[in-house]
Amino acid sequence: MGSLREECELVVIGGGPGGYVAALRAADLGIETILIEERERPGGVCLLEGCIPSKTLIHAVELIHQARDAAPFGLSFKDPEIDLEKLQAFTNEVVGGLVGGVEGLLKRRGVELIKGRARFDGKKSLALAQSDTGGVDFKHAIIASGSRARTLDVDPELELWTSREALALPRLPDRLVVVGGGYIGLELGMVYAGLGSEVRVVEFTPRVLIGADEDLVSVVVKRAKSIFKDIQVDSKVLGIEKSSDVYRLKVRHKGEEQTLEADAVLMAVGREPNTDDMGLSTLDLAMTEDRRIKVDKGGHTSISNIYAIGDVTPGPMLAHKASREGKVAAEVIAGQPSAFDNRAIPAVVFTDPELAWAGLTETEAKQQGRKVNVGRFPLSALGRARTLGRTDGLVKILSEPADGRILGVGMVGPHVSELIAEGTLAMEMGATLEDLMVTIHPHPTISEALMEAAEVAAGHPIHISKPK
Ligand SMILES: Cc1cc2nc3c(=O)[nH]c(=O)nc-3n(C[C@H](O)[C@H](O)[C@H](O)COP(=O)(O)OP(=O)(O)OC[C@H]3O[C@@H](n4cnc5c(N)ncnc54)[C@H](O)[C@@H]3O)c2cc1C
Repeated sequence: MGSLREECELVVIGGGPGGYVAALRAADLGIETILIEERERPGGVCLLEGCIPSKTLIHAVELIHQARDAAPFGLSFKDPEIDLEKLQAFTNEVVGGLVGGVEGLLKRRGVELIKGRARFDGKKSLALAQSDTGGVDFKHAIIASGSRARTLDVDPELELWTSREALALPRLPDRLVVVGGGYIGLELGMVYAGLGSEVRVVEFTPRVLIGADEDLVSVVVKRAKSIFKDIQVDSKVLGIEKSSDVYRLKVRHKGEEQTLEADAVLMAVGREPNTDDMGLSTLDLAMTEDRRIKVDKGGHTSISNIYAIGDVTPGPMLAHKASREGKVAAEVIAGQPSAFDNRAIPAVVFTDPELAWAGLTETEAKQQGRKVNVGRFPLSALGRARTLGRTDGLVKILSEPADGRILGVGMVGPHVSELIAEGTLAMEMGATLEDLMVTIHPHPTISEALMEAAEVAAGHPIHISKPK
């Protein structure tokens, strides 16, 4: 630990998409800002071991699938030769380039980046470990320390993978068992299956992708069943053993015990906030039961000069939520009337096909006993989907029966990750079905499905018959 102490107006702890964005926005607003990151480089989980490497690998696998599925177009390709080292190198290059970009932005904005592990030793001071700097005295602080993979209570000697290890592509196991059927498990399972591993997914709850509506999930599951060896829901992992490099997972499925063998095991059982070992208990900061930091719409915690954003706060653990919260907190600190008053946070699952939703889901509407109007448009009726040879999917819109105000959108299909923002914008703008219907959508694109779904909801579809 260094002895030097620094002083600043704002200190941001954590250089992920929450923290670095907050620091950049604050610097732009004239606030003297220090960003503390314990890793060698900024970028956080998203850039270094999450969103970016996973989407690079997912794209590589998409190329493999496209080549394999090209036969109906009269095209045939040889089986791909996979050079794992080159794929790793390409992924590292993508990550490195983006991280370098963040470093450049911070430098040019005058944000001081300090390497070290921060711990509060007062409401206005931090101690730094593993750093050349001893500590920082500040006026305001933003906690953006993010999250880490949750692991079940198993022996570390087993060397089970989390998403971090899986994304480093250490090897291609012949048989991979993925424990957890959330978005990370399914995305990474599809990566390994696409590269040639035999993949089984084991999920504790009765279905995968909890949170998304069943009609959307069933499209992904249908495709996943042709990619994976198996998806087993209602299955509890009772124990994992390893001998002669083979894993044996004892699993209880619908009351019966079975043993699954694997050459690697990926634990994708959720994430937990990095709120321990930061001195938060000495601050007596108000926390939720699952150890996240309670905040209001301005990002204020229970201590007036301390803010929190991103995965350490309640809500979905997503990079774009963290970034939006980062901008809000910086603006609030600068005295602006900013608030995280967003109506919808889009969620995207980058499986094949992609699945996305924003705002109210049908499941939530049912749970709330809320009457909604639902318009569904199948991709089988969409010209663009047919040109791609991918008609498995649908787009749906949930609206207020009285005035047609859009309450939620859900979609599954090719590249719907690019379409969900239109639905999210519609909700932010308070748009109605009519707004979507009269907006000219370019033809032929997947985006037309949103307009068509609005027409279905309004009761006068063009390209499908009126639902009875
Ligand atoms: C495999 C995977 C895929 C994902 N894909 C997506 C996706 O496609 N889209 C999406 O929106 N989200 C995705 N996510 C989630 C996304 O990565 C997180 O929601 C996002 O990174 C959260 O940002 P953050 O700034 O809150 O925290 P983080 O990105 O976790 O950054 C926190 C930073 O704080 C640092 N830190 C922690 N404690 C301290 C301390 N005491 N002192 C100093 N530094 C500290 C950490 O080293 C870290 O760099 C994915 C996650 C994973 C694991």
